[in-house]
Amino acid sequence: MADNAFDVVILGGGSGGYACAFRAAELGLSVALIEKDKVGGTCLHRGCIPTKALLHAAEIADGARESEQFGVRATLEGIDMPGVNKYKDATISRLYKGLQGLVKARKVTYVEGYGKLVAPDLVEVEGAAYRGRNIVLATGSVPKSLPGLEIDGDRIITSDHALQLEHVPSSVIVLGGGVIGVEFASVWKSFGADVTIVEALPHLVPLEDEASSKLLERAFRRRGIKYELGNRFNGVERTESGVKVSLADGKQLEADLMLVAVGRGPVSQGLGYEEAGVRTDRGYVIVDEYCRTSVPNVYAVGDLIPTLQLAHVGFAEGILVAEQIAGVATTPIDYDGVPRVTYSEPEVASVGLTEAKAKEKYGEVETLVYDLGGNGRSQILKTQGSVKLVRQKDGPVVGIHMVGARVGELIAEGQLIYNWEALPGEVAQLIHPHPTQSEALGEAHLALAGKPLHVH
Ligand code: FAD
Repeated sequence: MADNAFDVVILGGGSGGYACAFRAAELGLSVALIEKDKVGGTCLHRGCIPTKALLHAAEIADGARESEQFGVRATLEGIDMPGVNKYKDATISRLYKGLQGLVKARKVTYVEGYGKLVAPDLVEVEGAAYRGRNIVLATGSVPKSLPGLEIDGDRIITSDHALQLEHVPSSVIVLGGGVIGVEFASVWKSFGADVTIVEALPHLVPLEDEASSKLLERAFRRRGIKYELGNRFNGVERTESGVKVSLADGKQLEADLMLVAVGRGPVSQGLGYEEAGVRTDRGYVIVDEYCRTSVPNVYAVGDLIPTLQLAHVGFAEGILVAEQIAGVATTPIDYDGVPRVTYSEPEVASVGLTEAKAKEKYGEVETLVYDLGGNGRSQILKTQGSVKLVRQKDGPVVGIHMVGARVGELIAEGQLIYNWEALPGEVAQLIHPHPTQSEALGEAHLALAGKPLHVH
């Protein structure tokens, strides 16, 4: 093979790109991974990891604030944002070093620089050409804005800026009640800010089962997080001390700053994709169920394609592509079977279909809601919430929806139940450890199987 020629050339070193690189290298393929910034991409440097570090710091602040109800006397003196950032950055840094070590250990050729697809089998990086028997596009996504809404990075910010704040704002308007908006709202409230979420749709986390959205809304209301649902953003004006936001119903809100969390758009402009024959739609690269684009031997994965924008989806798509290239038998991803977690306080977690979608698909469905009030560990944690099961009439469980502290850790079991198409009676036979929150999942299945324990 000529110099700079590889079995696989991957453009973008985020979750999708590096997962593909690692698996391809493991399968004996020669791999070049091209990254303009830092391996790890959005998830490690501007997404999953930093937000979860902030959420953990927020949980500690809440713990101090609420300590008295546990008989512990602690006072919250304040939030030292540079200190919080130091902890967050140190966490990222440890993981980043680990990832860099893996790139070397897997013998992936790492190319630092801005890449462009110049032919269906050729990526150019600042003057040098990298030829690939296969090309994988994994250039990810960036925060979107609304038409005419200018992000200034100071008072009108995106999640990228929000992760770099050196102070806690005294008040924030969060535009968008999806996962990212809700997570930042949760953090800032715990840090002491006055928070209002504006969401055009009728509910927070609108992709979740309506019951989960309503529970989250109730919990946020109790926490003092305000929200405007079914109300549209009309415009924003910068003021002396911050921003003034007007809404469709005429209401005006003022705050120190506004976080724009209205979604993320694909990074595909100016990268030569269309010119090379790769079909796109509103910037997203169009792929089939095996992540193959319209050009033979060119694949695309992660946030760049119109599937769920989640790191673990990027990992799975990267691995799927690497295995196909290596000739390993693969099956397409069942996107309904991918677990989804919103890491706010309380957390929201789900897998499978919402009740509404299950009704659309199966007609008749049965549901069961198990209140965490009956779960010992949840009572110890003083968390409220529920586990909701959606079952195809007389068939397997097709949707699991949870709200409560740390339920994100429980959804992996939900994923097994969903993906194995387990019947409630089969799950009911599994003995869950007491007292854990996982028991709530077991007890919900016991109840659905007609053998309720701690419920009437
Ligand atoms: P990215 O991670 O965006 O990586 C793309 C890479 O390509 C980048 O490193 C970029 O520098 C590089 N690149 C782009 N163009 C070029 C070019 N021309 N040349 C060279 N390199 C290029 N997901 C979860 O599963 N769990 C979470 O808790 C979670 N929390 C999140 C919180 C926030 C605030 C955000 C913003 C996202 C969160 N996500 C979460 C989503 C997750 O981060 C993304 O789904 C994931 O990072 C997508 O991976 P990717 O590889 O497709 O793209």
